[in-house]
Order: sequence, then C-alpha cells, then structure tokens
Amino acid sequence: MASPLTHSPDALRITEIFYSLQGEARTVGLPTVFVRLTGCPLRCVYCDTAYAFTGGELRSIDAIATEVAGYRPRYVTVTGGEPLAQKSCLPLLTTLCDAGYEVSLETSGALSVAGVDPRVVKVLDLKTPASGEMQRNDYTNIPLLTPRDQVKFVICDRADYDWARFKLDEYRLDQRVSDVLFSPSHGQLHGRELAEWILADNLPVRLQLQLHKLLWNDAPGH
Ligand code: SF4
Repeated sequence: MASPLTHSPDALRITEIFYSLQGEARTVGLPTVFVRLTGCPLRCVYCDTAYAFTGGELRSIDAIATEVAGYRPRYVTVTGGEPLAQKSCLPLLTTLCDAGYEVSLETSGALSVAGVDPRVVKVLDLKTPASGEMQRNDYTNIPLLTPRDQVKFVICDRADYDWARFKLDEYRLDQRVSDVLFSPSHGQLHGRELAEWILADNLPVRLQLQLHKLLWNDAPGH
C-alpha cells in the first residue's frame, strides 16, 4: 500500500539532511544545516551530487522542519539536485524562513525562481559552455535577483572564464547581486590559474574554493 505521503501536497523527496560547514558562497565556513532534495533535470558534466538524482525518502514539510530544528541552526541551505524541481520546495522555504533561520537556496538557474520567498538568499548558477547544460539557463531569472542574492559560475577552462566574464558584463551582475562567485571545476581547472585570470582582468568577483572538498574530500554528508 502506498504511503499516505505519496499524495500529500506538502511531501518532498529528500536525499539527506545534515549539519556541516557551508562549503560555498558568502556564508562559507559557517555551520549550516543542509536539506538536499532529490532529483535534477540537468546533467552537468562535473556534477558532484549524482547520488541525489534518484531515490530519497518522502518526508512532510513538518517532519523536515522538525529535523532541522534539532540542530538549532542559524543557517539553513536547501540544495539538491535541483530543489525547485519539486513544487513543494516553495512552501518548505517559507516554513524555514518563518522558523527564523537565515535560509539560502542553491539552484541551477534552469527553473524559475519567481515563487521563491523573498526572505531566501538565492544562489543561482549560470551554466557555462563546458558544463554541457548552458542551453538550460533561464535568463528571465536575472531580473528577479536582488542585492541579497548571489550568482555562481563553475568554470572548467579558459573558454568558460571568457564566457562568464561576458555574462558578468552583459547583465551587470556585480551591481545586481551581493556576490558573483567564480568557482573552478574540481579536477578540471586549478584555483590558482583562475585566481590569476581574475586578478589580470581586475574582475569584481569572488574566487570560491569549495571548503567541503578541501576538508572532507567531498564525502556525502558534508
Ligand atoms: S544542476 Fe547541480 S545537481 Fe543538477 S546535474 Fe548540474 S551540478 Fe548536478
């Protein structure tokens, strides 16, 4: 017999909930609870969370909120996969904001962020040519970004860097959001090389190295 949650409008499929240090973005290094939702319609070549594409467990928003509260966090990040692929992600975000946490959403940039609670910090990817998913970028999201939000480029090579630099300028991203993050694709581009390019071009972006990979070699649960 199917679980009653299967038909519950507020059920979400969850891969994992865990407490760790934020590995990326403006709050890097801060203790954070991560809620990883299952599923993603993209297949980026460098994806490090393919284990979240399938499986997971159906949980109600109440059950998720109760587990999050057990960690007594200040920061909560909803991630994936692509969290917005599940429509109950929107009420989950609002529930977490209502509970008083500083909530961020990590999203691929392929789905609309229009319904996201305005209290949420959106960390929006723009997929580069070498990601293999550039055609999925939904540029109607750009005008929806605010100074609370962040834009992230995962950069695989020099052509990606040049593309990202062009998009930074085209959309004046540094004036639209609090941080533009340039992150080297792990194992594909050395952080030092990307740092030297950023310095040479004097770009208004933040180099981001993924702390959880340095500390825990990207083991699930960190
Ligand atoms: S959007 Fe994120 S989770 Fe989805 S395939 Fe790309 S890197 Fe992986």
